[in-house]
Amino acid sequence: MACAELAPCPFCGVEAKLYGTSSDGYLHCPNDACPVKPSVFSKRLGFKGNLIEAWNTRSSPADRAVT
Ligand SMILES: [Zn+2]
Repeated sequence: MACAELAPCPFCGVEAKLYGTSSDGYLHCPNDACPVKPSVFSKRLGFKGNLIEAWNTRSSPADRAVT
């Protein structure tokens, strides 16, 4: 594994989809049945690191309540 592993959506358990690249793009839950369908945008966050890391941080059990 060269990159960080992508965690599943914390709300439905489906694997998130990466659009663009991990440094310039966004991650999004592709499951239409997901109650939250969270997304993480690299530009909105001003995040210059690895988007996958941001998603995984957000997906941690401690952050479940964050929408
Ligand atoms: Zn989901």
